[in-house]
Amino acid sequence: MTPDYHTHTNFSDGISPHYSYLSQAHYSCIDELGFSDHFSILDSHWSVRNDEIIEMHERIEAIKHMENLPVQVRFGAEIDYIPGKEKKIRQLIRTLPLDYVIGSIHFLGSWNFDTDPMSFEGRNIDDLYDIYFTTVRKAILSGLYDIIGHIDLIKKFGHYPSTDPSHWHKKIIRSLKQMNSVVEVNTNGLNKPCREMYPEEKFLEACFHANIPVTLGSDAHQANQIGQYFPKAKEILKRIGYRQLATFHKRKRTMQPF
Ligand SMILES: [Zn+2]
Ligand SMILES: [Zn+2]
Repeated sequence: MTPDYHTHTNFSDGISPHYSYLSQAHYSCIDELGFSDHFSILDSHWSVRNDEIIEMHERIEAIKHMENLPVQVRFGAEIDYIPGKEKKIRQLIRTLPLDYVIGSIHFLGSWNFDTDPMSFEGRNIDDLYDIYFTTVRKAILSGLYDIIGHIDLIKKFGHYPSTDPSHWHKKIIRSLKQMNSVVEVNTNGLNKPCREMYPEEKFLEACFHANIPVTLGSDAHQANQIGQYFPKAKEILKRIGYRQLATFHKRKRTMQPF
């Protein structure tokens, strides 16, 4: 059973419409396709507009009711975690009949750090890692999310700390354990300057040893990216020892062999 739970359509910053993802998902041997467009309580040009939420939901419902669907379809969302705004985020989540919620960090303060590599200039990378992973921990402990998205995104443009990052990973894993959260294995990092999945393999190994469940996401922004690098990701997961992936329906988790 192979899910792809992280995809963006033209309702947020993807370029393909919902329908075009179906045949590609089938072609890429995906069994369960989750649409997870961006939602944010902060202003961002890459999130679903408030006045389009109903139309987007109707689009997904229409697909779910199609005959001969080649894949199971799930309604997800990738929702920014903003410290101190938990109540507002919870209200937003309540308005959507979601199968799962991915929590992601794209903002540190008001800085949308993952859009412009030049914006890292002059910043202290060790401090950024500290702030980033502290925010990830808060996101996990907020209990708002089923899945934590691209958990080490701070490495996206190839910036690495001067010390071994495992001390941050340990703290994160303790919080994941405490909140019974799922880690997303996001293959889109392989397209970015960091040239590796999120999370890095050492982090994933530590997750496995702590019994942290994982699921898969391509972070596709167009149909031909559905399931990108999944054979490689599954090979790495199997080598580490994983045999099951987390799937969601109406925010209830089921573990399935892959
Ligand atoms: Zn993201
Ligand atoms: Zn995404």
